[in-house]
Amino acid sequence: MKVMKFGGTSVGSAENINKIIEIIRSAVAADSCAVVLSAMQGTTDDLIKAGRTAERGDDGYIEIISDIRERHTKAVAKLFAGEPHVRILDFLESTINELESLCEGVRLVGELSAKTLDRILSFGELVSSRIVAAKVDAEGLDYEWTDSRLLIRTDSNHGFAAVNFIETEHRLIEHFDSSTKRLHILPGFIASDAAGYTTTLGRGGSDYTAAIIAAAVDADVLEIWTDVSGMMSADPRFVPNVREIAHITYREAMELSHFGAKVIYPPTIQPVMAKGIPLLIKNTFAPDDHGTLVEAESKAAAEMVRGITSIDNITVLNLEGSGMVGIPGFSKRLFEALSRARINVILITQSSSEHSICVAIEERSAEKAKQAVDSEFESEINVGKIEPLKVESGFSILALVGDRMKEHTGVSGRMFTTLGHNGINIHAIAQGSSERNISAIISSNDVRKAVNTLHEEFFSDGNKQINIYIAGVGTVGSRLIGQLHRQHQQLMNELRLNVRVVGIANSKRASVQNDGVDLDAYAEELQTADEMSIAGLAQTIIGENLRNSIFVDVTASPDVVDVYPRLLERSVSVIACNKIAASSEYENYSRLKALAREYGTNFFFETNVGAGLPVINTLNDLRRSGDQVNRIEAVLSGTLNFVFNNYDGTRPFADVVKQAQEEGYTEPDPRLDLNGTDVARKILILAREAGNRIEMDDIANEGFLPEECLAGSVDDFYLAMKKHEQHFRTLLDDAAAAGKRLKYIASFDDGKASVGLQSIGPDHNFANLSGKDNAVLFYTNRYSEQPLVIKGAGAGADVTAAGVFADIIRASRN
Ligand code: ADP
Ligand code: ASP
Ligand code: MG
Repeated sequence: MKVMKFGGTSVGSAENINKIIEIIRSAVAADSCAVVLSAMQGTTDDLIKAGRTAERGDDGYIEIISDIRERHTKAVAKLFAGEPHVRILDFLESTINELESLCEGVRLVGELSAKTLDRILSFGELVSSRIVAAKVDAEGLDYEWTDSRLLIRTDSNHGFAAVNFIETEHRLIEHFDSSTKRLHILPGFIASDAAGYTTTLGRGGSDYTAAIIAAAVDADVLEIWTDVSGMMSADPRFVPNVREIAHITYREAMELSHFGAKVIYPPTIQPVMAKGIPLLIKNTFAPDDHGTLVEAESKAAAEMVRGITSIDNITVLNLEGSGMVGIPGFSKRLFEALSRARINVILITQSSSEHSICVAIEERSAEKAKQAVDSEFESEINVGKIEPLKVESGFSILALVGDRMKEHTGVSGRMFTTLGHNGINIHAIAQGSSERNISAIISSNDVRKAVNTLHEEFFSDGNKQINIYIAGVGTVGSRLIGQLHRQHQQLMNELRLNVRVVGIANSKRASVQNDGVDLDAYAEELQTADEMSIAGLAQTIIGENLRNSIFVDVTASPDVVDVYPRLLERSVSVIACNKIAASSEYENYSRLKALAREYGTNFFFETNVGAGLPVINTLNDLRRSGDQVNRIEAVLSGTLNFVFNNYDGTRPFADVVKQAQEEGYTEPDPRLDLNGTDVARKILILAREAGNRIEMDDIANEGFLPEECLAGSVDDFYLAMKKHEQHFRTLLDDAAAAGKRLKYIASFDDGKASVGLQSIGPDHNFANLSGKDNAVLFYTNRYSEQPLVIKGAGAGADVTAAGVFADIIRASRN
């Protein structure tokens, strides 16, 4: 015999009922079947709502019942179009009238007992199973409909009744043995107690009804037909690219369902496991899909992690106190108190100091738990041995499940590192000694992010989603967006990174789109986007709480820098093309680096020195490998190198500067290049990265601009340079007369840094540095005679954008 259960969606409409009729028809052709049905989707929820509304004395329940009536009559009308169906309509009408009378009674007395609620709830399954039976009948199939309340006997714990297996099994065997029918139709979820009152088996309990029947009749298989193709590696509503689990063991399925994989009601597995009956989860809407086969041993080679689940609405109870240490019996009393109050404990952890016990329960029992525990320990609390029970809500439990996790080391390490990188705070951890389940209590706000990052971590055929916010869409920003757009597919193919831009902002507006900004049309979108300050954008990034978030600053604005700490504290990586932060006070620079370390995230600013050249990374690598940087000599201004390479006296100095600005090599304010500030910032950053505590004021900066050039606006600056052309000409001529060239050089030696214009001879390392190139020479313990040289284009939007891109990839892979 086969037992089949169809869920709420499967009976949710006439179309769907027609689908299950076909499934039932072909099943009965092969074997005798017991078919268990859920209520039509949403009906149980509505019935609860109707009861609660009536209890409040509110006649709004009438409208709720009218919705329920409509849902069912509509389905019936469609199912039996052109066929006689008066009997089922009469049944429906009289049942719904009875429901209305019951609710009216509840309204009048203003009280809804668990017992009455179970009566109300029973209508959902009674009606749906009758409708299916009527359709089966109309299709000419021979069948028998039986009220499950006559077969399944429970205690009187209404809402969550415990099955009396001995009596139930006896009744079921007798019922099926004495029947000659091949097809049995039964309502799920409902049962009755010894006095004959209706009870229910807990939300989602129709699965359980089917399992109880399957075990009693020793069925060949139990099939649970639902709206997904089996158990998935995670909740498909959370994770877009989940995997179907083809084979799974009973124990794994039990852990997964117990810890939130709603596809199957947790108690369902036990009865079939005890009898070794295979359990198959199938999709009504894709009956040819394999589905999930749950058995004692999993046949297919199993992944290390089978699935990732979560349960919401969790409250954490903390019992603490010095009076507990070393004295046996406290935990027994705690759990007895909870048990007496009928509170289900989901997870337990106790620190080895025995100073505290932490218990996770459902949020709805929080108040009851507080009363029960505080009254149990009243005398200890009064003398200060134990503190009153601490109750905190707003949590979820996250669980990683897999039989084979125990064969692998480092699974929990990977789990917690991944969560840590995403700034997900872990409130408590539990790992059973079976090592089949590792659970963590986290804030409910973090669940979606956590399940997704763990899924990407443990199911490696998926792409890791990276969420980028870009502030600044000037020359570098727009090139960066272009590069990200063009490389998207290649990053997926080669690095398995799905790098998405989810926010773009300029100084006034921000366009944030969680499913990705359209990179072909971002400029227009930004024009009509919401007005948003940078602080507002940071708030949004934190609020959205997307996994693997990276904030990219391609502005030159101090306001943007102000938001770095908040972002880093929420484990959002910060990639700065903007040099202000790394060249600000040492305290600030080192605080940002410390925050990145503390929150397991990244603060990268490779492009602050040498644009796209790998200067800072090389320096970091040298130091990490134990080398020490003793001296640095560098040409660090693409602008100044361009200017002095092109200034030969044939055109005014001001014109050459103008050209550099027009070609995009200068800072937005070119004076920052010309007065040496930009170079000073860069050598400052290099000196710091080399391990020195140094400030901007410590850098000797011998300016070469006449005083007048530094006052006023950028236009005034160009006029002043024109006026002082002779000054620049003299610098050039003096160098030429000595057979030398002008170079703006930064150096760091023996703890001291300086920047300034120098005349260098033809043998100098920098003599042949052309165009806008940069060069950096590192003299280290290992590179003591011949320096390590990094040389190449040191300015330009494309190379700078490429440098930012490289930082993004590095942060993404961390
Ligand atoms: P039914 O009404 O058929 O009993 P349920 O709503 O109880 O269906 O269960 C099916 C739903 O469970 C799916 O639609 C899916 O959204 C949810 N679900 C949660 N976790 C998982 C998981 N790991 N695998 C499959 N489905 C899951
Ligand atoms: N109808 C019940 C519920 O929604 C039982 C079930 O569908 O399994 O909880
Ligand atoms: Mg279900």
